[in-house]
This record gives sequence, C-alpha cells and structure tokens, in this order.
Amino acid sequence: MDIWALQIPIPLALAVVAALGYLFGRRTRFSNNNLLFRSQRELRRAQLVAGELEKIVCTVQKKLGKHHASISRFKERVEQLGTERQETAWEDLEREVEVILKPTLQLANQIAGAHDEIRRQSANLMAFTEVRTDPLTGVNNRRVLNDTLDAQFALTTRYGTRFSLAMFDIDHFKKINDKEGHVFGDRMLQDLAKLFDECVRETDVVVRYGGEEFVVVMPQTDLQGAGIFAERLRAEVERRMALTVSGGVAESLDGDTKDSLIARADNALYDAKAAGRNRIFRDDDEHAEVVVEEETGTTG
Ligand code: GH3
Ligand code: MG
Ligand code: MG
Repeated sequence: MDIWALQIPIPLALAVVAALGYLFGRRTRFSNNNLLFRSQRELRRAQLVAGELEKIVCTVQKKLGKHHASISRFKERVEQLGTERQETAWEDLEREVEVILKPTLQLANQIAGAHDEIRRQSANLMAFTEVRTDPLTGVNNRRVLNDTLDAQFALTTRYGTRFSLAMFDIDHFKKINDKEGHVFGDRMLQDLAKLFDECVRETDVVVRYGGEEFVVVMPQTDLQGAGIFAERLRAEVERRMALTVSGGVAESLDGDTKDSLIARADNALYDAKAAGRNRIFRDDDEHAEVVVEEETGTTG
C-alpha cells in the first residue's frame, strides 16, 4: 500500500476548515454588527455556501470512511507481522507507521466531528435567510428594512453619513389583477422584484414593503443621486415590463426616525401618483418631479 495515498483527503480537509472559518467568522461578525447580510445577494451567497459545504462534507466523509478502514486494516497487518516474526526491523517499521498514522487518524476524527457542526451552521443560515425573505418575490422583507434603517441611522449618528430611500408602487395594479388574474399579478411582482434586484448597486437594499410596494435603501446617496437612480429604475421598468411604477425619494435628515423618513418618501410617492403616475417625485422644498435628460450619443 502506498503510504502517500493517505494524504489524499488533506486538501479536502483544508477546504472544510476554510469553509468552517468562513461560517464562524460570519456568525461572529453578525452578532457584532447588524449591517451584515443586509443585501439579498449576500443571503443568496450564504445559501450557496451552505449548499457547497454539504457537497464538500459528503465527499470528505466518503473518502475518509474508505481511508479509515484501509488504515485500520494496514495497521492490523503490520502489528501481526511484528508479533509473528519478532524481528526488530518489523518493530521499527510498526513504530514508524504509528508515527505516520496517528496524525492522519486524528485528522479523520476531527473532520468527522466537524460534519455535525457544519450541518448545524447550514441549518442556521437557511433559517436566518427564511425569516428575512419575502416568500413570493425572494427579496428582503420588512424585518430587513427595519434592521437596515437602524444600521444606517447608527452610521449617520456616528459618522454623519447620509443615505436615501425610494418607495415604489405599481400603477393601477388592481386593474392588472382584475384583468389578468392574481397568478399573473404575482408573476409580475416576482419579475419586478428581480428587475429591481438586478439594477441596484451591491450596497443597496431592495425590500418588498407591502402588497405591490417596494423600498430601496441607498447608503451614501444624496437626494439628487437617489432621484436620478430611481428615475432610471422607473424607466427600466417601463421599458422591460408590461406595467409602470411611481416612486417617491427622500434623504435622511437630522432628527429623522425610520417612520418620518418612510413617511416623507411616501408623501413624495403620493405626489407622483397625483401628478399622473409613471414618474418619480423628490421630497424636497418643491416636491418636484425628477426628470433625467436622455444621454445623446455622438456620431462621426
Ligand atoms: P395606484 O396606481 O393608485 O397605486 O393603483 P393600484 O390599483 O395599484 O393601488 P391600490 O393600492 O388601490 O391596489 C393595490 C393592489 O395590489 C390591490 C391588490 O389587488 C394588489 N396586490 C397587493 N398584494 C398583492 C399580491 O401579493 N399579489 C397580487 N397578485 N396582487 C396584490
Ligand atoms: Mg399600493
Ligand atoms: Mg399601486
């Protein structure tokens, strides 16, 4: 038997150790910092990691099971030889093999023990994702909005950073439901959530706020920037979907609370609806509609 074959599981073992480090690290940081897992993308990433871990663990377990059995058989054989022949060479060999096998067997035991821990971590991750995800659309639910706003206001207090919030509402969604049915309406909600999720920045947080209302939180973004972004999103919805949305944008101000900020975005949204829908309004002195000039390409 080739003794070096015993080293095969080691790269896999290292992968498990690294993955465990990732999970433990994230769990520790989560308890210290509510900013963690603030985006839907990150939650999905965690789900993928958990899935990958399961695969790694299965592979490692299979390989280790085989190696454990062959190592034990090999050990027994060597011990037999030592007692039968009583030769010093065999005793030396046995001692040497003990030295080589001990850490390998220890490693095998450690990895086998890690299996349950990884399973537990994966289950935690899944449960964590579930309570923070809207089941219909897969984007964040209001629990995440709550945590995100807490974190953003904490950053504002500590570092004076500002952030903005956009609230979107589908135009005449009742009519769409009445005409096409609720199943179609649900599919539209899923498509819209997907489009929002695709178009926002990594650091933005998309939330299904209510039935057909979505909120996007934009860290480090002022009112003007948020208005431009919301308008682009509105235009993209109009271009790609068989429905339109209206939106209201507000930036965090001194003395704001979660409720006051959301209420100001909601008021701006109300103005957008009143002005004819399929448009974005800003919460500023004028409550003005956001109009972004189309970029014109140069020719020649
Ligand atoms: P407006 O342009 O003023 O926003 O008109 P609207 O019809 O969209 O507004 P309204 O708030 O009066 O109606 C919202 C509708 O959204 C009511 C309901 O039919 C629909 N809706 C809410 N939640 C869901 C859902 O989960 N699935 C489906 N299919 N429809 C939903
Ligand atoms: Mg509504
Ligand atoms: Mg609506």
